[in-house]
Amino acid sequence: MGKLQGSDSLQSLYKDLERCFEEVVSWRRFMHQYPELSFQEKKTARFIEEKLTSFGLEVRTHIGGNGLIGILKGENEGKTLALRADFDALPITDEKDVSYKSLHKGVMHACGHDGHTSALLGVAQTLSNYRHLLKGTVIFIFQHAEELPPGGAKAMIEENVLDQVDYVFGAHLASDIPLGKIAVGEGYQMAAVDKFVITIEGKGGHGAKPHESIDSIVIGSEIIGSLQKIVSRRISPLQSAVVTVGVFQAGTAFNIIADTATLEGTVRTFDAKVRNQIENEIHSIVKGVTSGYYAAYKIDYLRGYPALYNHQKETSEVRNLLKDVFTDESVIEMEPSMGAEDFAYFLVEKPGTYFKVGARNEQENTHYPHHHPRFDFDERALLNIEKSFVNIVSYYLF
Ligand code: MN
Repeated sequence: MGKLQGSDSLQSLYKDLERCFEEVVSWRRFMHQYPELSFQEKKTARFIEEKLTSFGLEVRTHIGGNGLIGILKGENEGKTLALRADFDALPITDEKDVSYKSLHKGVMHACGHDGHTSALLGVAQTLSNYRHLLKGTVIFIFQHAEELPPGGAKAMIEENVLDQVDYVFGAHLASDIPLGKIAVGEGYQMAAVDKFVITIEGKGGHGAKPHESIDSIVIGSEIIGSLQKIVSRRISPLQSAVVTVGVFQAGTAFNIIADTATLEGTVRTFDAKVRNQIENEIHSIVKGVTSGYYAAYKIDYLRGYPALYNHQKETSEVRNLLKDVFTDESVIEMEPSMGAEDFAYFLVEKPGTYFKVGARNEQENTHYPHHHPRFDFDERALLNIEKSFVNIVSYYLF
């Protein structure tokens, strides 16, 4: 492993990546102008397919939806390594003032997935000229629908994209990390995400006669208060969890007692036991409060993406590798977040790691948070994603 580190071949790989940089940027800007929403990314998938085919890769399309893969077989036997990029956009109107602004009204690449995809295409293009050095196979996974549960990752895995894979790696641009820095970290880095919908069925009536009705708003309010005590009173303070109620809908007029109330919310956790516990606590609270007030209820609890767990060995190998590629100071520790990412499904199946690549510079236009209508990034970060991936491939397969 890693025989190529510091060698002439690696230097020539870098030169190839740098030579193709403008082209990678042009792909990114093209995709940025023509973004497509999750599960609707047909044209983007076609664009990726055409590129992969032109690099001479074996391509498989329509995997679990709009997902596709490019397969690069080395001239020598060895392990199989998968690299993943996502390619869906968000329902946001692009408010940037740039030449490559979105031409699809109300749709925008506001998370950098256009960057992930163009960088991975750049890696595929360059590595396709190095089959003679490759011991094993690289599978380039282009995944649709990361932004919208149930997501594309699970469906692609169910269609066996990981069957022959030994390791899997993914990267995400980060507008909160400076250009030139890469964040790496072992263990749980992103949360499992669940959604609940609680319907409280009371009994409507006149606002002046509450004793003859069952007030779903009062009951809903008590439930919200109690839900907020799950994390503070029922979960170990050494664990991380969030319970957020984002929707509370009820009522039609000031003098009518609302018959029905609906609460919707999200649960974020790292630990699987905590995840199960919170689901049970929600059931127990809703059952208890509604029964105390003679109301009926219904709970729909939907499990979303699992927590993202970076495997110890591969993460520490990648950290050391990236310190060699860049500098010791370039590689920083990742800060865990309660956000979610369906790359987690890949890491449930296979060892690997997910890292963040700094993409902000001193200009304000690169400082907006992900999912902001003015989100943008320093495109030189794409080269850092490419170099990171190429080094990971060279470490495991050259
Ligand atoms: Mn994203």
